[in-house]
Amino acid sequence: MKEFELINRYFKGRGITRRDVDLGIGDDCALVSVPENYQLAITTDTLVSGVHFFEDIPPRALGHRVLAVNLSDLAAMGAEPTWISLALTLPSVDLDWLEAFTEGLHEIAEYYNVQIIGGDTTQGPLSITVSAKGIVPRGKALTRAGAKAGDWIFVTGPLGDAGLAIEARKRGIAITPDNRHEVEKRFFYPTPRVAAGQVLRGLATSAIDISDGLVADLGHILRKSQVNAVVQVEKVPMSAALKNTLVEGERWPFVLNYGDDYELLFTVSDANKGALENKLKQYGVEAKCIGQIQAGNGQLDLTLKGQKFTLPKGGYEHFSD
Ligand code: ADP
Ligand code: MG
Repeated sequence: MKEFELINRYFKGRGITRRDVDLGIGDDCALVSVPENYQLAITTDTLVSGVHFFEDIPPRALGHRVLAVNLSDLAAMGAEPTWISLALTLPSVDLDWLEAFTEGLHEIAEYYNVQIIGGDTTQGPLSITVSAKGIVPRGKALTRAGAKAGDWIFVTGPLGDAGLAIEARKRGIAITPDNRHEVEKRFFYPTPRVAAGQVLRGLATSAIDISDGLVADLGHILRKSQVNAVVQVEKVPMSAALKNTLVEGERWPFVLNYGDDYELLFTVSDANKGALENKLKQYGVEAKCIGQIQAGNGQLDLTLKGQKFTLPKGGYEHFSD
């Protein structure tokens, strides 16, 4: 199959059509219109076979995941996703694989009202790059830099599930089929917190999505904002599947150090805390307060039931940096 046949079959005329796309797939560039008084938010992520996913990952999940991780970055800035471009490097043209992959991709694109406006198709070892674009009212994007002493620290959902799914495959952790199914769903089909990100706009002081683990990603906020933080680790939300599978001492590396869950971590002033919690609840997001920002220059302290908590050394290696 020729490149243009492949594009026509799997991309052109499939998926949603947005009114702000002036020219979509088929020319040398796409043309889009950014509304007045908005800024364009742009992010890119690549998934490489054998590095970011197992070779036997269901292709439909891969289509979902590659877009989800990009939408998560837009969510973390409070942007509304609008358009994506897709660079696809394929070892061969496998029609069943392409059908399932594009099904996963179009499904999540439609759900979030995102149009695929172009891309590139090449031959080589399997690798997928998405560049996602979004719009955000001028000056209203959330960054990593706004946290202030006294702000509260929140996460939008349970952490550690995706890591458990990965390690259960790699190391044969004892896990029941039901629990395995639950955590694999979170690894294969992560939910980018797009609505939550937009709710945070104007209320949160900083935000980031947790792709590399709570400790690492909160660390980015602390350094950019030039503040310290105390996190009470027992307050960090965990799924029932994770609690059922691991005893307490085994949980922390997953919950605190593993990424890939794509929940949002954000800070909010004491004055806006209640308003933000209520607004998130209206959108079905149960954000949990896990600690507080303090004056300082980038240090993170963890406590467990009031005692200083030190992470066990040599935690699990992160599979997908
Ligand atoms: P060019 O050689 O000018 O870059 P291509 O032949 O690579 O153009 O692509 C033709 C059109 O198809 C372009 O509009 C491009 O954006 C689009 N396209 C190519 N590959 C993909 C893909 N994997 N997904 C979506 N659109 C694609
Ligand atoms: Mg090209």
